[in-house]
This record gives sequence, structure tokens and C-alpha cells, in this order.
Amino acid sequence: MPSHQPTAGHEAIKPEYLSSQPSPMASKLEPNRNKNYDPKKPHITDTPLTRYNWYKHVNWLNVTLIVLVPVYGMIGAFWTPLYWQTAVFSILYYFATGLGITAGYHRLWAHTSYSATWPLRVFLAAVGGGAVEGSVRWWARDHRAHHRYTDTEKDPYSVRKGLLYSHFGWMLMKQNPKRIGRTDISDLNEDPVVVWQHRHYLKVVLFMGLILPTLVSGLVWGDYLGGFVYAGILRIFFIQQATFCVNSLAHWLGDQPFDDRNSPRDHILTALVTLGEGYHNFHHEFPSDYRNAIEWHQYDPTKWFIWTMKQLGLAYDLKTFKQNEIEKGRVQQAQKKLDQKRAKLDWGVPLDQLPVLEWDEYVDQCKNGRGLIAVAGVVHDVTEFISQHPGGKAMIKSGIGKDATSMFNGGVYMHSNGAHNLLSTMRVGVIRGGAEVEIWKRSYAAQSEYLKDGSGHKIVKAGEQVTRIAEPVATSAAA
Ligand SMILES: [Zn+2]
Ligand SMILES: [Zn+2]
Repeated sequence: MPSHQPTAGHEAIKPEYLSSQPSPMASKLEPNRNKNYDPKKPHITDTPLTRYNWYKHVNWLNVTLIVLVPVYGMIGAFWTPLYWQTAVFSILYYFATGLGITAGYHRLWAHTSYSATWPLRVFLAAVGGGAVEGSVRWWARDHRAHHRYTDTEKDPYSVRKGLLYSHFGWMLMKQNPKRIGRTDISDLNEDPVVVWQHRHYLKVVLFMGLILPTLVSGLVWGDYLGGFVYAGILRIFFIQQATFCVNSLAHWLGDQPFDDRNSPRDHILTALVTLGEGYHNFHHEFPSDYRNAIEWHQYDPTKWFIWTMKQLGLAYDLKTFKQNEIEKGRVQQAQKKLDQKRAKLDWGVPLDQLPVLEWDEYVDQCKNGRGLIAVAGVVHDVTEFISQHPGGKAMIKSGIGKDATSMFNGGVYMHSNGAHNLLSTMRVGVIRGGAEVEIWKRSYAAQSEYLKDGSGHKIVKAGEQVTRIAEPVATSAAA
């Protein structure tokens, strides 16, 4: 749980802390600062972890809530029979408290991706409290820092520090509050539901996390113990671990269709575990979109819940990014991947880096036994290729020492796009004043800006190789 103080690094904030804040500005910027915390004194995290001081680095409240209580629940489950009513209720309550986090804490309060009427806000703040992951105020503040400073030192749960750290290590060990990036949560301070939940957080957690599920199971079908163990403790454990996956698994597993500069990723497995928060690459690109999944067939029950609330008149102003903007991001990322693929291929030595040969030099070298062929003013060394030429040795040999431009471009055989590409890898020089090279160089210079990929490599489009001449060449027979 991350109750409200992991960033403070000392004991839990007293619920009445909020109202006793010395300065209104301080309360807006540093809502989770423990009053025992003195920024002038060195923080425990400034001291190296040793065999003698390790226990001072541990956030014992969170260890109790995230590890020790679940272990106690699992041991308790051995002696606690599971009634089917309790099992069904535990699952339903699991989804309700999960939606409190995903639809409430995350999409409503951290990202304001939609607006909710006060009955829905009260419901979400209540069931969200039952997931035992801290107050809305604390959670949303850290989450905004996570988006603003993703993968950096100021990211409270940066996956760059390891998968387990991003999952819950950041809560089990004390954090230096100075390290976490600052964010503005003034809007949350104006929401009375958020302020009330923060002030009465411990009561909310106890009631929604344990007392309510115990009472429901006990009063309705007489299973107080099962309600406490299964719908209470174990359900808290599962919903905590599931939602923690948004910080770990969603930054580690899957594809990056929108941007690959940071760690967020899209994966169906993460979506299944996190009530639809698994399309995290999309989410980090378009955080104020109330959807995480944009395709109808993708699993995003949180989106369906928000949409249903809108139909019931409880939610409004659902924000979405324009499809045009979403597709632009997708195309740019696809282009980037394509450019990376292109950069790995051999496109031949660029023309401007090839040595310039006089025509007579070219002819002489062929007479001396080199297998050179000039096509469109570019000289290619085909010696190694003669035996592999699909049209036979005789045909290719007949071009050696000549201007084979028209032979190659339909005079003898209209070579394929693949043949032009292959030919370009055999380039060894250009003929001085070779007409086609000159024409190509001029038009190339004119549009070279458009012919480069993201990393500055030249793009050779199909059918636009230098050895290809646009007009069909008249055959020698027709001439
Ligand atoms: Zn994230
Ligand atoms: Zn988010």
C-alpha cells in the first residue's frame, strides 16, 4: 500500500496532517511530505545500505501491508473453508476495487481524461481505497511524476532500476522525497472527495478493505471468516499485485507501436491482468485519452465501465485524441522501424563516393580482363556474377566494355527491380560525363531532401535506381 507516505520515508502521515499544513503553497507542491521530514538533514537513502542499517532503509508500513498481511492471509486460508458465495463476491469485489484504481485513481484523477458526477467520484474514491494503494492524492501525484519524468531519476517507479523495483521495490524501500519529480496537483486539492478521502484515509482503508467485505459475507450468507480472509486480505493482495503490473509489466513486455524512445509497451497479457491498462505505449503517448485500447476487440474493461457510466449520466466530457493524430504517431513509428531495417541493407556505394573513370580507361580495363559493365554511366564489376547470371554467361559477357544501358533496360531484356538493386551493389565507378549519371545527379540534388530517411540515409525507391531509365529504349532491331 502504499499508504500515503512512501515518498516521505518516515512514519505514516497523520490523517490530520493535511489540515495542519503550514503553507498553502507547500501543501499543493509537496502534499506527501511527512512533518518529521527535515529537508536539511541527510535522508536515510543518502546513506549506503549496510548489514547494520538495512532495516532503516525498509518502509516497514508498506512491507506489512504488501507482504506480511498477504502472507498471514495465505496461511489463514489453509484453515478457512471457501464458500462459493464468498468466492463469487471476492471476484466481484476484486473488479470493483480494481476499477476504483484504473477508472478512478488513474484515468479520472491522475489524468482527468473524463469528468464524473459526485456520486461516481464518491464510489470510485471508496472502492479505490479498498484496493489499499494509498490515497488518491498520493497516488495521482506520483503517477503524474511518472508520466512527466518517465524512465528518469525523477520517475518514482522507473523500470530502468529493474522490473521488481518498478513493481513494488519502490514502495518496500524508503524513497528520498527530494528525488521524485514535482507535479502540480492543485486541481485535486479542489476536489472535496479527494481531500476527504486523503484526510480519512486510514478509516477508508480499514472499512473498504476489510470491514465491508467481512460484513457483507457475514451478514448475507454467514461467512465472516471467509469474507475477512478471501474477500478482504487475499483480494487486496491480488488487486495490489495486478495493478502494480502497470508500472512493471507494462514497461517491460510487448510492442511499441507509437514511440520507442521510452519504456512503455502494449501487451494483451498486461491488459488482461490490469483491467485494460496494458496498452501502455498508447497511454503514455495520449495520456488524457479515456481509452487505453482503441480497437473494439482489445480488452479494456475500464474504458467500457467509463463509457457505461456516461450512458447512465454519471460521467461526462470523455476525452479522446483525434484518430488522425493517433495514426500520425503510428505511421512515424512504423517509418522509424522501416528506416532502421533499410539502414542494415547494402544499397551499393553512393554515387558521389565512387571514383570517376574516363570512357577509354573503362574500355582498357575490360580489355585487360576485368568484367566491367557500364549502365547509365555507372560502372559495375560483374566478374563474380557472370556464372550466376540468370540470362546466361554469354548475354552478360556481351555487355562487358560497352555501354549496356539499353541492353539492360529492355534492348535485350527488361531487367527486374531486383536486378537493378543487385546491380547497384556491384558499382565500382562512374564514367566522366556519363549522360544518365549527370541527369540523375541533377534531379537527385533537387529532391535529395525528400530522399533521405530519419537517420539521413538516402532512400532508393523501387523503379528509381540510377541504372533504370524512364523511357523504354528502342531495340537495336527497331533502330
Ligand atoms: Zn507508465
Ligand atoms: Zn497514466
